[in-house]
Amino acid sequence: MSTAAKRSRDRERYHEKMRTDPVWKESEKIRLAKLHSPAKKAKWRKNNPDKHNATCARHRAKKCSAPGDGLSGEQRKQLIDDAKGICSYCGKFYKHLTLDHVIPLDHGGAHDISNLRVACRSCNSSKGTKILYEEWTPPKDRPLTSNTNKGNLEDI
Ligand SMILES: [Zn+2]
Repeated sequence: MSTAAKRSRDRERYHEKMRTDPVWKESEKIRLAKLHSPAKKAKWRKNNPDKHNATCARHRAKKCSAPGDGLSGEQRKQLIDDAKGICSYCGKFYKHLTLDHVIPLDHGGAHDISNLRVACRSCNSSKGTKILYEEWTPPKDRPLTSNTNKGNLEDI
């Protein structure tokens, strides 16, 4: 039996038990409420900011039907750590950096490591959904260096 078939079978058994066993259903409701409590979610978010941000970014990308595989919380953290606090647009040092889609998701850009740049909050919100060098120019006109794919950026 394939994994998908087992999962489907288990799901069916779960729903069958929910329908037929009211005592178990009540205990399951309590278990789920504890598992998904807002306090627990907030604590997890605080302890796993990179995973949380990566999940939110994947959700936004999915809403825009953006292509690309996205990136994991670890990949996101690695990209930001590699920048050593330097914004790739203005070159200034910041304690907190964000990831910017070079080609905005609204313009068909991919939610993919090849389309992401480390940017400070100021540059990221100033750029918004504008296209780099067409609608928005970085505050400091400096050659962009990339730790991901320099080639694509030089083509822009
Ligand atoms: Zn900046």
